[in-house]
Amino acid sequence: MLTHHAKNILNTLGSAALTLAVLAVLLVLIIKTLRRITRGPIAPIRGKVTSHFGKRNAPVAGASTYHTGVDFAAEVGTPVKAPWPGKVTKAFNDKSYGGGYTMVMEHTNGYKTGYCHLSEFVAHEGDTVRAGKTICRTGNSGRSSRPHLHFSVTDPTTGQKINPETIFNFTT
Ligand SMILES: [Zn+2]
Repeated sequence: MLTHHAKNILNTLGSAALTLAVLAVLLVLIIKTLRRITRGPIAPIRGKVTSHFGKRNAPVAGASTYHTGVDFAAEVGTPVKAPWPGKVTKAFNDKSYGGGYTMVMEHTNGYKTGYCHLSEFVAHEGDTVRAGKTICRTGNSGRSSRPHLHFSVTDPTTGQKINPETIFNFTT
């Protein structure tokens, strides 16, 4: 049977442990928030760019000679992440431009991003997603000769597609 004194000690230890646990949780939250604020945009996919932005030779008959995004060779089903928080504004099968299963996001910072030749939509039209969330999976749909992701970025001020490699680091 515990003495009154022993019970007091146990109570004190208990509240000290609780206080430490609360402090630890707060510390983790603070670190996570600071990381989110200080880090750059999240690359939607990592890997080798197989076709850069800009002028090029058409890789498939009928494809544009001005490449409006960057291509990554990627196994079908590779997850693609939202680079910034935002909303999925389109998720459709693009038959007119050969994009195949295509997704478009509008981000809270004004940028728009586009993803083509997908195999699967993970998020859906109208969904609000946070940065880093898997929104879709790569595929080989539409006008595509091999499994790859076509990724594009639209500048908020000019409304023009810009070179994603000036914003993202796809290698680290
Ligand atoms: Zn492309």
